[in-house]
Amino acid sequence: MVQTTKLVYSFEEGHAGMKDLLGGKGANLAEMAGLGLPVPPGFTVTTEACLSYFDQDRTMPDGLWEQVREYMERLEATSGKSFGSSENPLLVSVRSGARVSMPGMMDTILNLGVNDHIVEGLSTLMGDDRSAYDAYRRFLQLYAQVVMNVPSDTFEGILSSHKAAAGVTQDHELTAARLAEVVADFKSAIQKETGQQPPTDPWTQLHGAVGAVFESWNSPRAVSYRNHYGLAHDWGTAVNVVSMVFGNLGNRSGTGVLFTRNPSDGARQIFGEYLSNGQGEDVVAGTRTPEPISALAEEMPEVYNELEATARQLEAHYRDVQDIEFTIESGQLYILQTRNAQRTVQAAVKSAVDMVREGLISKNEALKMVNAEEFSQLFLPRYEPEARAKAIASGARIARGAAASPGAATGRVYFDATRAEEAAGRGIPVILVRPETKPEDIHGVLGARGVLTSRGGVTSHAAVVTRGLGVPCVVGCEALDIDILAGTFTVEGKTVWEGYEVSIDGTTGDVFLGLVDTIRPDIEEQEEAGILLEWADEAKRLGVWANADTPADAQRAVSMGAEGIGLCRTEHMFLGPERVPIVQEMLFSAQDMDPSNEEDEASARFRQSLEDLKKFQIEDFAGILEAMGERPVIIRLLDAPLHEFLPRHDQLVRELAELKATNASTEALEPLEQRLSLVEGLMEANPMLGHRGCRLGITFPDVYCMQVEAIITASARLLRKGIAVRPEIMIPMTSHANELKLLREQLAAVADATQERLEVSVPYIYGTMIEVPRAALTADQLAESADFFSFGTNDLTQTTFAFSRDDAEAKFLNQYVDNAVLPHNPFATLDLDGVGALISMAVEKGRKVKAGLEVGICGEHGGDPASIAFCHKEGVSYVSCSPYRVPLARLAAAQAALDDNS
Ligand code: PEP
Ligand code: MG
Repeated sequence: MVQTTKLVYSFEEGHAGMKDLLGGKGANLAEMAGLGLPVPPGFTVTTEACLSYFDQDRTMPDGLWEQVREYMERLEATSGKSFGSSENPLLVSVRSGARVSMPGMMDTILNLGVNDHIVEGLSTLMGDDRSAYDAYRRFLQLYAQVVMNVPSDTFEGILSSHKAAAGVTQDHELTAARLAEVVADFKSAIQKETGQQPPTDPWTQLHGAVGAVFESWNSPRAVSYRNHYGLAHDWGTAVNVVSMVFGNLGNRSGTGVLFTRNPSDGARQIFGEYLSNGQGEDVVAGTRTPEPISALAEEMPEVYNELEATARQLEAHYRDVQDIEFTIESGQLYILQTRNAQRTVQAAVKSAVDMVREGLISKNEALKMVNAEEFSQLFLPRYEPEARAKAIASGARIARGAAASPGAATGRVYFDATRAEEAAGRGIPVILVRPETKPEDIHGVLGARGVLTSRGGVTSHAAVVTRGLGVPCVVGCEALDIDILAGTFTVEGKTVWEGYEVSIDGTTGDVFLGLVDTIRPDIEEQEEAGILLEWADEAKRLGVWANADTPADAQRAVSMGAEGIGLCRTEHMFLGPERVPIVQEMLFSAQDMDPSNEEDEASARFRQSLEDLKKFQIEDFAGILEAMGERPVIIRLLDAPLHEFLPRHDQLVRELAELKATNASTEALEPLEQRLSLVEGLMEANPMLGHRGCRLGITFPDVYCMQVEAIITASARLLRKGIAVRPEIMIPMTSHANELKLLREQLAAVADATQERLEVSVPYIYGTMIEVPRAALTADQLAESADFFSFGTNDLTQTTFAFSRDDAEAKFLNQYVDNAVLPHNPFATLDLDGVGALISMAVEKGRKVKAGLEVGICGEHGGDPASIAFCHKEGVSYVSCSPYRVPLARLAAAQAALDDNS
């Protein structure tokens, strides 16, 4: 005997675990039927049938039709109605339903099984001609659209002209006689468009509808939806054939949609809409406006109570907030669909925590219910929604650029970094506006509430620096005509001067004239988010640290729950208007020093500038170490190439040419020429791979020695005040163990001498960044001289791919991702096969030499959920990210741990 595949399941035969085979809708209908809930009887044609249809050149699989007929008979028996009968007709809906809900992407046909004769019987059954003809015209319209490809406008046009002729505005105001004319006109229009009539035989209708629903799996809109959400194309759709129930049988009938909790704020209240005497498409088509669900409570309290009880039952059963479709036919409630509700992140967090409090779900389930990426939005400054809407309505939105660093900011315009810094120092909220920013503008950026540029993309200097700092930023806002010399920008005929108020939104790219009220949420202010994070901390095994360069950043990091600082970049501490001249003086004097005579004047100047810098550094380190107390603080010694602290080459060349043109004396020219020669000496063809990091530390040791002395001195000062400190000294860009060894010996001598002089013992450790493949490949050798590793995954990605990030992102990475050459941008999500493999190997090699070696990552990947999951699996000690992403990282680390356990 030939075994035939089962291709059809009644609702009694399925359950929620069969989504792959029955689709989400079919599986949930079956589950609800199993719970004894009032689901209209029906059956599901499986996704396998759909796949086989496509496999066999779009023919129905063998045996499918026999099974459909058998299940239709069962449906007739359950409903007591008969498919194709004109006395007691059974009408069905034919609905698509893939394993994942794809709202509106595939097709549905309602009221199938009607024709010119049957509509008469339907009138008797419904007790109303109007409803019967309304059902018929809806069937014709949907069937012709879905199966025969007639455009929907054809039908809308006919309906509109009948409404106009009848002097009414609403579909449901059309009389039965008028609807019979609509039916006739629909048929003529279909004949005209396609040269044929929709089938009158219900079985032929059903055959056409099932085929069309299969086809809709591959409709262009369904394919692009799946591409957008990264869903597979080989799942297929199931087809649900469900006995029709009618919401348009008078005032004790209706239809609606509800959420078991408010989808905006998560409040535990039934939230939804109800349309009395109507069908779902009336709402979708916008022809009628539904009322709040409370209208049902007034009209039919007993049905409302049953609906509310069902909603609670479904929520408890599915252990998640539900989005439920229902219809009431002559006072009888039917549930047509339930699925997990889409909601705002605020609602997701509140309902997850509330459901734990109500005993419906466990803490771990609640942690899994919130999307980590969305969660991070809760902690960014944002506009107060009403204030934003008002600003847009009043025309205050003057431009839009690229959203470079998320969050909303308001303040006064400053065009010059130094003036911006001064204003910020006086407590003025500053928005720094520049054509673009450069490293020398950093002091202005540091004090600013927000940064706005007219040039550059999302990887420009302004974008990268502000993202690291968590400062909102909009870049490439080309509509702004900035005149730096005049101190103005002009846009749409309006001129904005220094001191004018503007608001920028780094999440959307919007720029507003004037102040738009913002909200800056803290964890303490968000009760449920705080609770969820406490649970996350109980569940996670990975540490979450933050990247912070200032005491204010460090404090924010602690308030966000950071357990340490994984990267304190010291470059910024060498910038700023008071410091750049000292750094430049140090470099110029070094150039002039006589190596054979330590007592020469240039050497004295050099020592003095180092001394001056050290004073600043001691204050910097003391501030950060104090903010972090017992928590570890990884301080990275200077990484940037030295030319970054010098004037620009082209500027010096221009100045020199201008001076020469005035016939200036040799003495006047000399200092400028000396500067130019220093700049040329430090200029590099590829600074990314050039004289930076530990290479600088070895060839120009004085800066590293000064920094170590400052770290020990700052620590000593705090220890004396009874404040615990845990500094970790980190060497960047190591590629050979000898670099690390040599520097360790040199720096340990400085640290020892400083401790001896200050009579303290500072509990510091010494480690390295791993940012180049050679360091990862020889991690066992590095571990001999390192107490910790920190993967600088930004540079490790650059050096592993041999991509320079700015060039790659500006020129080809988007295309790579669009064409699936790469699955995603490797600077945003770790490339597991390449960079990830290097990390795994280095962790293993390092820990073979030193068991329990502290390892972390401090590149931007430290705030990316997928990369965090990888770090968890690899047994990394911590991830370090921007303070604003710390909550996200805590949640993502917990989710990774829970996935691991499950
Ligand atoms: C890195 O390379 O990942 C890193 C954190 O260092 P930076 O971004 O400062 O080069
Ligand atoms: Mg780096």
